[in-house]
Amino acid sequence: MHIPFDNSYAALPDAFYTRLNPTPVKAPHLLAYNTDLAALLGIEVGDLTEAAQVFAGNQTPDNAAPLAQLYAGHQFGNYSPQLGDGRAVLLGEVIGTDGIRRDIQLKGSGPTPYSRMGDGRAWLGPVLREYVVSEAMHALGIPTTRALAATATGENIWREQGALPGAVLTRVARSHLRVGTFQVFAHRGEVEHLKTLTGYAINRHYPDAKTPMDLLRAVCTAQAELVTKWMAVGFIHGVMNTDNASIAGETIDYGPCAFMDAFHQNRVFSSIDQQGRYAFGQQPGIAVWNMAQLATSLIQQMDDRDAAVEEATAIVHAMPAQLETGWLTNFAAKIGIANPAQDDTKLIEDLLTLMQTDGADFTNTFRALPTDAARDQFTNRDAFDVWHARWQSRTPSIPLMNATNPAVIPRNHRIEEMISAAVAGDMAPFERLNAALATPLSETDPDLARPPTQAEIVPATFCGT
Ligand code: AMP
Ligand code: MG
Repeated sequence: MHIPFDNSYAALPDAFYTRLNPTPVKAPHLLAYNTDLAALLGIEVGDLTEAAQVFAGNQTPDNAAPLAQLYAGHQFGNYSPQLGDGRAVLLGEVIGTDGIRRDIQLKGSGPTPYSRMGDGRAWLGPVLREYVVSEAMHALGIPTTRALAATATGENIWREQGALPGAVLTRVARSHLRVGTFQVFAHRGEVEHLKTLTGYAINRHYPDAKTPMDLLRAVCTAQAELVTKWMAVGFIHGVMNTDNASIAGETIDYGPCAFMDAFHQNRVFSSIDQQGRYAFGQQPGIAVWNMAQLATSLIQQMDDRDAAVEEATAIVHAMPAQLETGWLTNFAAKIGIANPAQDDTKLIEDLLTLMQTDGADFTNTFRALPTDAARDQFTNRDAFDVWHARWQSRTPSIPLMNATNPAVIPRNHRIEEMISAAVAGDMAPFERLNAALATPLSETDPDLARPPTQAEIVPATFCGT
């Protein structure tokens, strides 16, 4: 097996990470391997038994520089001064055939100095959920970390539910730099490290940026674009803590995430989010809150603090308008309007209100809009007809709608069904979901587009630990 490592993070100061190898497991077995992604990364796998050894962490590949990264973060609004990779090891970086540098990380690879009370492991369910959902997000054109492999460890781990099969996810990301990576040095007053990290992030992700405030502006823009894309597919991240906010602007850390079935602005799936802090409709506001934390950290390195505070405030305050524009552009496309006017905001909001009142399925309502079947999504059909007539006067583009609105998303009940099957040794539902989600705009597998029946509804998702 050959992975063409070209590592840069490992050259940063020792304070940024702890070098260590993954902890070997009993009986590695490759469950899923993403050949397209491997090709993009220039990885030649050859023997799959050897690949399983590498992706389970039993064998360290040549030229890897394994390490666990240090970071901190606000979790549900409260600052944790030290988090870090508690169950992950960065093997190193590769430069893909597209010229982009990416991390290759093992998640669930055993304890590290940052594990705190955790066992450093992951179980099969969250590993396969992250595999399927992250690859689905990628196919939907949404920036995201990706899944290169899922490997069973042959060991059981203990969770609330009892003994569960362990697994390791091989995760690929443009980087694992988080808002929390900046916070840890800023809060400790380690300004030299903060400067080094800022330079590294600029160089790696936003080479046009000249100053820390340019970096802030670029990350705010990337996060605003990301969150509006989530909204447009009904995605709820579930744990938008600052340690899960990527500097590269990718979706990262698929824990208790979910796609909505019936639309509701306040929808929450995460079992740990009792207050609804990260509910569907809260996500844009939380993205701004997270960027305010990044701003606060970046400012610590500026010579003229007052000027920096002023500039950073202006940048963060510009985000709501960016989010609104992004929301309008994305949702207007969903109803077939390529160049929305400000008035179209009302048109879209009125549809969403009808959908919320009637519990209409988010994905299928938009997908069905060009057809007579759209009406069937509503109980109050007269109200929908009135909206429909208003909408028709905007002469929507059906090709735009069909190119925008997915037919298939990773629905929760399908994910849960897939996990149960995989635990029982049947990977067929995983393969089926993955295949259909690779082309989300096409109706190749209509049964996967069906919303859950009352009995199939999954009310809550549990954190990916
Ligand atoms: P998350 O909620 O998955 O973003 O994780 C938050 C923090 O908890 C990170 O520092 C993780 O590395 C750590 N963590 C989560 N699960 C485990 C585990 N099973 N063992 C050790 N650390 C964990
Ligand atoms: Mg995390």
